[in-house]
Amino acid sequence: MLSSHVPLTPLLQKQGRSGQAYVGRFAPSPTGPLHFGSLVTALASYCDARAHQGTWLVRIEDTDIPRIYPGSESHILQCLDAFEFEPDGDIIFQKDRLESYQAAIARLKQQALVYACQCTRKQLGSSHIYAGSCRQLMLPFEQQAIRVRVGDQPICFTDRLQGRHCSSLSTELGDFVLRRRDGIISYQLAVVVDDHLQGITDVVRGTDLLDNTERQIWLGQLLGYSELRYMHLPLAMNDQGQKLSKQNMAQPLDIQKAPELLQQALIALGQPPVELDRPARMLAQAVHQWNTALIPRGTAIQATFQ
Ligand code: GLU
Repeated sequence: MLSSHVPLTPLLQKQGRSGQAYVGRFAPSPTGPLHFGSLVTALASYCDARAHQGTWLVRIEDTDIPRIYPGSESHILQCLDAFEFEPDGDIIFQKDRLESYQAAIARLKQQALVYACQCTRKQLGSSHIYAGSCRQLMLPFEQQAIRVRVGDQPICFTDRLQGRHCSSLSTELGDFVLRRRDGIISYQLAVVVDDHLQGITDVVRGTDLLDNTERQIWLGQLLGYSELRYMHLPLAMNDQGQKLSKQNMAQPLDIQKAPELLQQALIALGQPPVELDRPARMLAQAVHQWNTALIPRGTAIQATFQ
C-alpha cells in the first residue's frame, strides 16, 4: 500500500480528528435545491454519527461547475441552518480543493495507474464498458481525459443495510475517468480524496450511489487509504414511484416547515416520531432513539411529505 503524502491543509487537520472511531459526513452537490430525499440522507448521516458519539462534517460537492444550479448552494446552507444541523467543522467546498485532486492524480501517474485518453463520446458509442483502447498510447496528459486502470479481481464490501455487494470493474465498467478533458475532476476521485483527507470513517447516503462504491473502494486501495464503512439508505419515492431527485424537479425543502419535515423524514427512516419542537431538540431526541435496525430494508421508501 502506498502511504499518503498529499498534504493536509490546516483546515482539514482541524476537522479530521485522527484516531476517532466515527467521522461521518453529508456531501450534497449543488445541482438543485435540497429536497425531501436530501433531508432523509442528512438526517440519517447526522443521527448515525451522533449516536456513535462521532463527528459529523458537511462538504459541498461542486466540482462539476456546469451542473451547478444557481442559488442551490445558498439553499443548502439555509436548510442546514433552519434544520439546525450543526457540523463539527467548517463546511468545505470541493471547488477550492482542486490541488488535492491533482496531487492524487500525480501520485497515480507515478505508479502508471492512470493514462490519458482521447476517445470521444462518439467513438465510445453506446457501450458502457470502456475497452481500454488508449491504455498503451502514452498520450500527454494535457487536454485529455484521464482514466484509471481497473483490476480484474471483483471488489466486494458489506453494506450495513444492503448486505454484500460486489462488482467486477473490468467486465462491468472498464477503466474510468478521473478528470474530464475539460479539466473537471470526477465525482469518484473528489469524493475518495476528500473522504480520506477529512478522516471520514462512515459513509451514509442513498442507494442511488451504491453502484459507485466499488469504484471508490478501488481508488482508495490504489491511493493507500483506509477502508470506509458504508450504509446506503432506501430512496424516498414520490407517489408516482419515481425517486425524488433534483433532475425530476422534486420540491425544494420548505424551511418554514422544518419541524414537520424532520418528523416526516424520521418516519420515512422507520424511526419513532419525536415531539414537535424546535429542530435542535427534535434532533437530540432522534439521536437518542436512533436505531438502524428500524430503517426499512430494500432500496425504496414510500414517503408522504409536503
Ligand atoms: N454529492 C453526492 C450527491 O449529492 C453525494 C456524494 C456522496 O455522498 O458520496 O448526490
